Amino acid sequence: MSGQDVQTDAIIVGGGIAGLWLANVLRLRGYRVVVLEQDRLGAGQTLASQGMIHGGLKYALRGQLTRASEAIATMPDRWRSCLDGKGDVDLSALAPLAERYYLFADASGLGKLTGFFASRSLRGRIERIEPPSYPPVFKAPGFQGVVYGLNDFVLDTAALLSQLSETLKGCVFQHAVAGEDLRVEANRVVLRLPDASLTGKNLIICAGAGSQRLLDGLGLPKPRMQLRPLHQVVVRHDHPDPMYAHCLTGIRRPEPRLTITSHPDGDRWLWYLGGQLATDGVQLDAPDLIDRARRELGACVPWLSWDDAQFETLRVDRAEPEQTRGGRPDEAFAAATGSCVVCWPTKLSLVPNLGDKVLPLLSPPTNTPADVPNLRLPPARVGRSPWEA
Ligand SMILES: Cc1cc2nc3c(=O)[nH]c(=O)nc-3n(C[C@H](O)[C@H](O)[C@H](O)COP(=O)(O)OP(=O)(O)OC[C@H]3O[C@@H](n4cnc5c(N)ncnc54)[C@H](O)[C@@H]3O)c2cc1C
Repeated sequence: MSGQDVQTDAIIVGGGIAGLWLANVLRLRGYRVVVLEQDRLGAGQTLASQGMIHGGLKYALRGQLTRASEAIATMPDRWRSCLDGKGDVDLSALAPLAERYYLFADASGLGKLTGFFASRSLRGRIERIEPPSYPPVFKAPGFQGVVYGLNDFVLDTAALLSQLSETLKGCVFQHAVAGEDLRVEANRVVLRLPDASLTGKNLIICAGAGSQRLLDGLGLPKPRMQLRPLHQVVVRHDHPDPMYAHCLTGIRRPEPRLTITSHPDGDRWLWYLGGQLATDGVQLDAPDLIDRARRELGACVPWLSWDDAQFETLRVDRAEPEQTRGGRPDEAFAAATGSCVVCWPTKLSLVPNLGDKVLPLLSPPTNTPADVPNLRLPPARVGRSPWEA
């Protein structure tokens, strides 16, 4: 190996939300960190996500709380502390895209879910909203239905990543890590770079869908990754008001029919559609999914016209630890093999939970000043959302 050897406490592979969040958490505890991202920061799932910081109520639409809905329940409050500058990381300079997320259904109502939403077990997590307090999109005369406010909110993920990378200046580089370039030993990891070597006390793999390839390159048989695909829909239109809400109109299975977020698109709002539409859409090609999205918007948001709207679709895989029968994991995941920690947050909302799980798995920091590593690699910059790219 040629060139200098640079020492650090943690080498983090992957510059999505997991990598940048953990790098911030570790820096605050005195760790020296190096983040290596092969592309733009967030280029995997993070910039394609809907940015909802949610407490898992959408996993309780059978009318009862589940393990999945409870593991995530405290996450909105953890994130709000960060926005207040008092949490795991400092996000006090970040303004949410939407302070609140809603849930609505047409005049036929929510059936037995009405009683569940009013129950004591959900106090503080959901409340019925009266018409004078509706967000503007529901104040249109044509809307006749029910609206609930959740304890959830929405972040602009590009702004979130920018904020997290601000404190990491000089420590986040663009470099594709190959498993073959890594040597994992009991107490340290050595990464071969083009003109240097980087030695870390810990290796943290948070490479999203790229993690399996790294595990294979390292010869680690476990953990294994699963991919759960989505086929999202992007809708451009002229309606002036943003929508941040799950639509439960006429649902026949425990998943929101549409999960809608809105994102700035020049001087307009673009609506980004997930939920059942995106899950079922995996089986459809783009033209069929667009037909279905038009029908769904016509049925769920009939008080607005969709005749002149333009549609695009976007396929993205969620990368997660393997589950029996490919189900959805309930919590963030982190597992250690020697000095190597592999993690998947499984949800943007769950990264505080990921931090809790990773910290106990790491060797302590060297307690030398958190200096900027002298590596001759280009800095990695925050990417753009797929609908802007
Ligand atoms: C369409 C969609 C909508 C979603 N909406 C929400 C939501 O509203 N709320 C929520 O809580 N969750 C949501 N999620 C889930 C959430 O987006 C993900 O759980 C989260 O973004 C995963 O972050 P990550 O950092 O683990 O992965 P990623 O964001 O995928 O980051 C991994 C990074 O690693 C890099 N990388 C890969 N291999 C290498 C390598 N060899 N060397 C260097 N770098 C490498 C990649 O380029 C990538 O940037 C959504 C997911 C999808 C797909």
